[in-house]
Amino acid sequence: MAATVSSFISAINDSITSNKVFLTDLDGVIGDADHGINMTRGFNAVVLKVSEEDSDVGATLKKVGMTLISTVGGASGPLYGTAFMKAGGEAAGMTTLDGETISKMWLAALEGIKARGKATLGEKTMIDAIEPAMEAFNKAMGEGATIEEGLDKAIEAAEVGIEYTKTIRATKGRASYLGDRSIGHQDPGATSFTIILKTIAEHYKK
Ligand code: ADP
Ligand code: MG
Ligand code: MG
Repeated sequence: MAATVSSFISAINDSITSNKVFLTDLDGVIGDADHGINMTRGFNAVVLKVSEEDSDVGATLKKVGMTLISTVGGASGPLYGTAFMKAGGEAAGMTTLDGETISKMWLAALEGIKARGKATLGEKTMIDAIEPAMEAFNKAMGEGATIEEGLDKAIEAAEVGIEYTKTIRATKGRASYLGDRSIGHQDPGATSFTIILKTIAEHYKK
């Protein structure tokens, strides 16, 4: 894996931007139709702040997080912003990452999201993809998988998580205003996380 942290960020920006309408449409059904717009605005701002010279993964991810918090108005900005900042805190001074560090970053990001948004598993949020994906990654790594294999297991679990969000009622975020009418629709934030995860996995293999 020779890819730089800025090339990962740039790949995420590309995939979020190309899913702008898809994510916004999902949010249109159970929210206020801006998730793709919010995420695209955030990552478009992020790529302007990150360059190839940024080799310290931790410092770069902190910059990504701060930029998301300051440019995205919706719930997803502070939540993803916190996640990137917390993940960055576990990678301070590092230029490459091993599986153990990735696990620590993932947990710190998840805990940051939970602390900020006061949501837990089963409330129809991004957590319903992030947490099972992390657990699948950790399980695979514990069984001796490579990072690439671990990320593939994580994607499978995140996709199951998206399907799970269709079956439950939202109890956090704007979708909770719909009550039972939120059932049957997938959560936009769980979907954007899965897109980001897939992008990281694809880019990792390059
Ligand atoms: P907003 O809801 O402010 O318009 P977005 O549409 O950008 O913001 O983001 C909506 C997504 O944010 C939801 O699909 C959900 O995954 C996530 N979300 C909302 N509230 C919370 C929360 N308290 N904890 C975790 N995730 C949340
Ligand atoms: Mg919204
Ligand atoms: Mg909004």
